[in-house]
Amino acid sequence: MAQNKQSWIEVAPNSDFSIHNLPYGIFEAKSRGPRAGVAIGDYILDLYAVARLGLLDDLNIPSNVFQQPVLNDFIALGKPIWTSLRARLTELLLNDNNELQPHAEGVLVDRLSATMHLPVNVGDYTDFYSSKEHATNVGIMFRGVENALMPNWKHIPVGYHGRASSIIVSGTPVHRPKGQTMPAGSDTPVFGPCRLLDFELETAFIVGKNTQLGESIPIEEAEDAIFGMVLFNDWSARDIQKWEYVPLGPFLGKSFASSMSPWIVTIDALDPFRIENYPQDVPVLPYLESPVNKRFDVNLEVALKPKGGVEKVISRSNFKYMYWNMPQQLAHHTVNGCNVKVGDMCGSGTISGTTPDSFGSMLELTWRGEKPIEMPDGTTRKFIADYDTVIMRGFAEKDGIRVGFGEVSGEVLPALV
Ligand code: CA
Repeated sequence: MAQNKQSWIEVAPNSDFSIHNLPYGIFEAKSRGPRAGVAIGDYILDLYAVARLGLLDDLNIPSNVFQQPVLNDFIALGKPIWTSLRARLTELLLNDNNELQPHAEGVLVDRLSATMHLPVNVGDYTDFYSSKEHATNVGIMFRGVENALMPNWKHIPVGYHGRASSIIVSGTPVHRPKGQTMPAGSDTPVFGPCRLLDFELETAFIVGKNTQLGESIPIEEAEDAIFGMVLFNDWSARDIQKWEYVPLGPFLGKSFASSMSPWIVTIDALDPFRIENYPQDVPVLPYLESPVNKRFDVNLEVALKPKGGVEKVISRSNFKYMYWNMPQQLAHHTVNGCNVKVGDMCGSGTISGTTPDSFGSMLELTWRGEKPIEMPDGTTRKFIADYDTVIMRGFAEKDGIRVGFGEVSGEVLPALV
């Protein structure tokens, strides 16, 4: 059982950003240009300011890594530095420590008044498809119950290469995409705004290591090559996707936007929330045989909020529903010698639970629009309407210790003309 620690910074019991979390992000605030920070309670700890006080000198971290508009150079320092910095920050923030506390005014920033930026330069983005329930639901809708899961699904962490240029930080609005669709019962495609706009409830991990072309990351080493995790909304245009995806897979139905939460929660912070691996019922090839306890118990939820209206939580899921874990995904990704770079992102794939109220997309929640969702204002949704805001939240909690992700939100605006 992890010991519940207290900081000299007051942190509400229900805060996602306890002293046990210490997630990294890039913030901008009055007289502080974009730089690295750590969230704690309602504050951001300015890491560049902490380093300038000399309080991190023993770690031999070049202080300029904290004064950059992305975390890539800090992340590239590697796992031993991530872990030792985390230990030092924990020490500085504990209520019996008096090294940093006298400098509180110079190092703490009001979190809610700060502007959050995309925390990493994402070179490449890959999206997996690793929730069995999601893959089964979509399979039933598109191919019927008999062939719901494709024959490869339990042997390969299925994925595709996504688009990094359109990854955006939480709070950035998304214009409804336009594209080509095939109306039901027609044989002539039409062009116009997407009519079946959806979200996908996902998490994503940030790669923390550069590899050489030809090199593979063995599964035993894969977790240490992952810096941390964020919440991830992989916006999806279902009507565009349905027409375009044969035979090569998703393209414009996915590439118009993907939203990420601004705070990267480290694997070290998630350590208390490990659980046994998903019971995989088909033997996997040796390179995919996972070390134990590589799964995490993280509650996830999706809320929908119409403009000026009241939000409604429309799904409650959990990261534990992932059939394939992150080390399996990264080991598979690199097994062919494909090199990865610091800042690369890998989406989990839509995370659906076992019950209809835990499905991770509108496609599944409304079952292709057959069961519309009733909103508090009396309107209904089959898919996402203009001016709806989609909000995803996630947190882990155990023995009174809470480690959360904050949220990723995005408002849908009408298609640009
Ligand atoms: Ca996806």
